[in-house]
Amino acid sequence: MMARLLAALVAFALSFAAPAAAPFDYRLKPEKIADDTWVLIGSTEDITRGNGGNIVNTAFVVTKEGVVVIDSGPSRRYGEQMRAAIARVTDKPVVRVFNTHHHPDHFLGNQAYADVPIAALPATRAGERDDGGAFADNMYRMAGDWASGTEPRIAQQDVQPGRLTVGGHEFELIALEGHTAGDLAILDHRTGVLFAGDLVFLDRAPTTPHASVQRWLKSLDALAALGAKKTLPGHGPVHAGSAGIEQTRDWLKWLDQTLMQSAANGLDMAEVMRLPLPERFKRMPLARSEFERSVTHLYGAYELRALDSVALPVLQQK
Ligand SMILES: [Zn+2]
Repeated sequence: MMARLLAALVAFALSFAAPAAAPFDYRLKPEKIADDTWVLIGSTEDITRGNGGNIVNTAFVVTKEGVVVIDSGPSRRYGEQMRAAIARVTDKPVVRVFNTHHHPDHFLGNQAYADVPIAALPATRAGERDDGGAFADNMYRMAGDWASGTEPRIAQQDVQPGRLTVGGHEFELIALEGHTAGDLAILDHRTGVLFAGDLVFLDRAPTTPHASVQRWLKSLDALAALGAKKTLPGHGPVHAGSAGIEQTRDWLKWLDQTLMQSAANGLDMAEVMRLPLPERFKRMPLARSEFERSVTHLYGAYELRALDSVALPVLQQK
């Protein structure tokens, strides 16, 4: 009798418990930013077990002929959930996927599009091939089980730069570089939306593990000349005008100047990392940690150049 009463009480208590949230749900909510154009905006944090790597922006365009996907996210699960989110918006099939560059948060969702042609710049495909395995392992280390079952699926097609029309949308495929060795930007002439990939960051400090600052600055000039109506940065909010391009340029120029000056003054890496941030960057998410990372990625080359410029006159005297 007591046992049955107890069981009834337990069942009664359990009926009030909140329904268990589905595990590893990224809660992707497509946001419409222009005709036929939807984006999924990630957080401006580092990758953690809390966000599962959803720190990135992805997008899709629903054309008459089917859906064009731009970047597939940080994990197999994200790719699958993105595809489910697309299916809630349209019953058209996904016909094409582009990877803007080879960084893990942008292409590790490719597994969910195994039946769709995936295209990227040649340097991006090479990067996916060379670094993909290590990236997937690292994603698992940082994001935990969100990333379980994630393996790199390499883009199978080279992007041909130029115009490509899909279902009434004329896309300009623009081959650039500087954030990595291959950075694809896509301008949709129909809507004026620029999908800038990680060439543009807004209100989130830029990352530089594979960066060439000078090439990146040139690419920003090329993007500015497009005069896009709206820009989707790789990280940060969708915006009209050129705020993202300008802020990214401002950050890169400051970084370049700071590293050059520090090398000329003979500072060591630890000293550079402790330098104060300019007031305008102090409240930018991840400014301090990305600056420190950039010092580890880039400072060695600045030190070598500073040594060269000291050594060269000596050598020339001989
Ligand atoms: Zn990136």
